[in-house]
Amino acid sequence: MRETVYWLVGPGARVRHAVEFAPGTFPGGQLLPTVCNRWIKIPFAGGGHAESIIQRCPECTSAVRPHQPCEVTWNA
Ligand SMILES: [Zn+2]
Repeated sequence: MRETVYWLVGPGARVRHAVEFAPGTFPGGQLLPTVCNRWIKIPFAGGGHAESIIQRCPECTSAVRPHQPCEVTWNA
């Protein structure tokens, strides 16, 4: 696992998943693999309902925890 993981909310989703790629370096709509082996679409800038979402995917959480990476809560 990389040193930093980013927690983001896919469009229309209600939980955050962890990804190992900085979402800000990809265009909105780009698919990225999550730590829990799903795919997540990077939300479009200004899509903004996500700030209030704090719930994290339990599978990502348990996969990330042992590595103790830097964790960034990312919003478009
Ligand atoms: Zn997940």
